[in-house]
Amino acid sequence: MPRSGSAAQQDGPGPLSVVIAGGGSAGWMAAAAFARFLERGHAVTLVESEEIGTVGVGEATIPQIRLFNAALGIDEAEFLRATMGTIKLGIAFDGWTAPSSHYIHGFGSVGRDLGLVPFHHLWLRAQALGIAGPFGTHSPNVAAAWACRFKAGPPGGLVHAYHFDAGLYAAFLRTQAEAGGVTRLEGRIARVETAGDTVVALHLADGRRVAGDLFVDATGFRSLLLGEALQVPFSDWSHWLPCDRAIAMPCARAEPLLPFTRAIAHDAGWRWRIPLQHRTGNGMVFSSRFMGEAEAEAALRAALDGAATGEPRLLRFTAGRRQAFWRGNCVAIGLASGFLEPLESTSIHLVQTAIERILAFWPGRAAGPAAVAEYNRQTAFEFERIRDFLILHYWANGRDAPFWRERREMALPDTLAAKLNLWRESGRVVREGNELFTETGWAQVLIGQGVEAGGWHPLADQMTARELGEWLALQARLVRDRAQRMPSHAEWIARVAGAKAEGVAA
Ligand SMILES: Cc1cc2nc3c(=O)[nH]c(=O)nc-3n(C[C@H](O)[C@H](O)[C@H](O)COP(=O)(O)OP(=O)(O)OC[C@H]3O[C@@H](n4cnc5c(N)ncnc54)[C@H](O)[C@@H]3O)c2cc1C
Repeated sequence: MPRSGSAAQQDGPGPLSVVIAGGGSAGWMAAAAFARFLERGHAVTLVESEEIGTVGVGEATIPQIRLFNAALGIDEAEFLRATMGTIKLGIAFDGWTAPSSHYIHGFGSVGRDLGLVPFHHLWLRAQALGIAGPFGTHSPNVAAAWACRFKAGPPGGLVHAYHFDAGLYAAFLRTQAEAGGVTRLEGRIARVETAGDTVVALHLADGRRVAGDLFVDATGFRSLLLGEALQVPFSDWSHWLPCDRAIAMPCARAEPLLPFTRAIAHDAGWRWRIPLQHRTGNGMVFSSRFMGEAEAEAALRAALDGAATGEPRLLRFTAGRRQAFWRGNCVAIGLASGFLEPLESTSIHLVQTAIERILAFWPGRAAGPAAVAEYNRQTAFEFERIRDFLILHYWANGRDAPFWRERREMALPDTLAAKLNLWRESGRVVREGNELFTETGWAQVLIGQGVEAGGWHPLADQMTARELGEWLALQARLVRDRAQRMPSHAEWIARVAGAKAEGVAA
């Protein structure tokens, strides 16, 4: 670093030259955010290589993406038009506990809490009494998802995220970022120049040298700066999350236009189905120990519910994370920082929180070691808690195939084992600190995948069985009626984004 921390304090932080290596979703999300939030003459340069390209997937999100878009001043209708986006209300898990089982992990609330008693305790008691309908019938998002309907709120709206075309999203953000002053350099990074733990410059294949103060490594799985140049090791989590391949393949749009992602279990992993305005995204996620690439491709082709509109693309990955995310003057985001498979659509969210955190811990000319340590601690915590939530889906399976039997028998991380013990002892779920998934999210997956709770909160016993049954039936009816009054998802998209909808003029 050119100046010491104390000199920086005397001078004020001063503008930095920020170099973002990589122009996938992660690189352009960072570029657009920096263009919006960095003032005082910070220079932002993004280097990307069209020849190398991007991972080209990452089309399902969680509701927090709306906060990111709003912070960038992005208009929802314009965004949906530009990215061929659709609404996502949750994820349907098909066949995880038995071949014909299904439930939706919906965003937003499920049922109404009773004073201090979370709703799921009342439902658990009703289940024990044999008077409970499916848990999802109490979720406005789940009811609307099954009915293929959507209405934005408020009032009476739902909690939504998006499906979008990842390439179009990156292009959309690029326009924003370049309009905000970001300089884009096209070129292949051939070498990363370092001095100890500091990245000094990127050397491009055509001989250009790109120097900077702060480097953001968004080079995807290659992790060229943090992983390769600074040699930060990777913690491999494939003993918990063994899927290491995906084959992605788009097909023609299918009707009706579903407002949810589908995650369909198969013998050695699962398959995604993501509805967009112009096509459906599909992908087989599998473990290469249990399924061959040719077999996976054949299974994917056979399962498409429309004519294929592109060639299959094979992606190889390993679940895990870098042991540090920020070292010296280099911070990795996106796939360069680690990878958790897309079962709960969390990767783009991890990019978003990494950017928020970089801005929160923004360095002067020298990033203090305490700030770097805190950044790394928070990021590691976030990764680990999402990891636990993903493992739960695999562990709590009821399928009969070697891949799934092995998942049921695996040793769990202590943090997940503690959560499961609490649930199996008393039906309680506790969200620790800032972990991403809420008690409601955990309860939906635990109940949806048949993990038996050991009881319920004693205060859930205050109603008589009859009162409880009537109250739950009324709540479920209100939720269902509310969903039925909403327009269809396709109509809503047609109206808001001006896109073609099933049987509806645009
Ligand atoms: C199978 C699969 C499914 C996924 N599904 C989802 C999902 O549904 N939801 C979700 O949130 N996330 C999902 N993800 C993750 C998501 O795709 C990524 O988090 C997101 O796209 C960000 O990727 P990235 O920008 O880090 O990497 P990339 O898209 O790989 O971008 C890397 C960039 O670095 C550049 N680069 C690399 N090397 C060089 C070099 N030598 N010189 C110059 N430039 C270079 C590339 O050209 C590119 O621009 C999925 C990932 C996979 C693998």
